[in-house]
Amino acid sequence: MAEQSVYWDEEVLHIGIAAASALPKTVDIAIIGGGYTGMATAIHLARAGRQVAVFEAGEIGTGCSARNGGMVGPSFHKLGTQGLIARYGETKTLALLREGLNALDYFEDFLREENLDCDFRLAGRFRGSRTQADYEVQAREGDWLKQNLGLPFDMIPKSEQRSEIGSDFYKGGGVYHRDGGVQPRTLLAALARCAEKAGALLFPNCAVENMQKDREGTILKTRAGQVTATEVVVATNAYSDRRTSAMHKRIVRIDTGAVATEPLAPELMRELSPKGRTFGESGRIFMWFRPTPDMRRFIFGGRMGRPGGDAQQRANAVRASMLRVFPQLDHVGFSHVWSGNVAYTGDHAPHIGREDGVWLAGGYCGSGVTRSVYFGMKLARKILGQRHSDTAFDDLPFSPLPFRPFAEFGAKVLTKWYVWQDARDLRSRQ
Ligand SMILES: Cc1cc2nc3c(=O)[nH]c(=O)nc-3n(C[C@H](O)[C@H](O)[C@H](O)COP(=O)(O)OP(=O)(O)OC[C@H]3O[C@@H](n4cnc5c(N)ncnc54)[C@H](O)[C@@H]3O)c2cc1C
Repeated sequence: MAEQSVYWDEEVLHIGIAAASALPKTVDIAIIGGGYTGMATAIHLARAGRQVAVFEAGEIGTGCSARNGGMVGPSFHKLGTQGLIARYGETKTLALLREGLNALDYFEDFLREENLDCDFRLAGRFRGSRTQADYEVQAREGDWLKQNLGLPFDMIPKSEQRSEIGSDFYKGGGVYHRDGGVQPRTLLAALARCAEKAGALLFPNCAVENMQKDREGTILKTRAGQVTATEVVVATNAYSDRRTSAMHKRIVRIDTGAVATEPLAPELMRELSPKGRTFGESGRIFMWFRPTPDMRRFIFGGRMGRPGGDAQQRANAVRASMLRVFPQLDHVGFSHVWSGNVAYTGDHAPHIGREDGVWLAGGYCGSGVTRSVYFGMKLARKILGQRHSDTAFDDLPFSPLPFRPFAEFGAKVLTKWYVWQDARDLRSRQ
């Protein structure tokens, strides 16, 4: 087992973006962060004729955008429909949830129109219910989404579960037909090439070290020199730090990870995912899993294991969760184990807009593939003052977190509490 190696790198080792030849003294817009959010924003701004520079601290693909699970879908909301209605009322809840579908529709159209090849496939997702109570909640929520948003959704009882997943672990589950997957690193590479072609100047290995306001705009100090930008976009999501404090002080960074199995026999792959679906499960700390686009391996991920633990510790924790669902993988080894950071927000919602004098989009709470590409387009429209720039998330307050220095520690304690509660629920299930 390789130490911290990302499976997606096997397929696309080099994203192949060279740094722009020179940094101008001034640009219209400086974008900090070269993931999906930064690249999507850059594409639309550059196409509108703005001079754009994208600064990425590492190689393109250092952050989440080249190390995620590549699971796509409407990614509704971490609070669930009932939690949202309790907080915002039914009208706002519908508007927020509809944005998930808008994001997915936009994502699908954008990939097709731009001819971006990234193994995008909506084969549906089966979300297993760990307990009977979870099954009933999922059925109620699914029905509500079907009735109010027209979401294609079906509940599958335990007796028919084997047609969806090669497991008897769950008490049944739901199929979300508008979910699927991409190859995340290929997607990022395609977006980066698109941004470059649109005329954006890309600067990999060029962290922004410092920002200072002056009369002309903002002076950014970077490894390639100094530049003055009329507008600044912070697209650093979970990789924000004090240099990009507008985002950093509003999000909690949570450590998460994934593993890839060694290649599996075709008949075993068909048994595990008879319809080529991706998977999730109920619970507070849950596992997501999916076949690779070539249908030769499985990838499992989530917040299992000790935050900050090494590759072996993470692999052991994922193996325990995997074997609970697929005991038939007992003999299977892992070829890749890796980790990454996701950005959580106080209200469990992603955010977009202007804070502390910079534009930003992020806080995707672990579901940012479709959302970031959509928010990048919306953010560019906001900066350009164009129509159709609004989202239902615009008026959600995005305040700095209280007790920010303790946020990561607090999240670790909360994670342990959730793990304990999940274990208790599993022990007491019939
Ligand atoms: C293991 C894992 C699995 C996931 N699985 C899924 C999934 O299946 N589906 C889903 O929807 N979402 C998933 N996510 C979340 C998803 O990957 C993210 O929401 C999304 O990639 C965020 O994109 P981004 O462009 O906003 O941020 P990133 O891709 O993280 O980009 C931010 C970039 O900013 C750069 N940066 C930071 N500071 C500076 C600076 N000072 N100067 C210059 N650059 C800087 C960083 O190097 C980084 O590359 C997963 C995340 C992880 C970690």
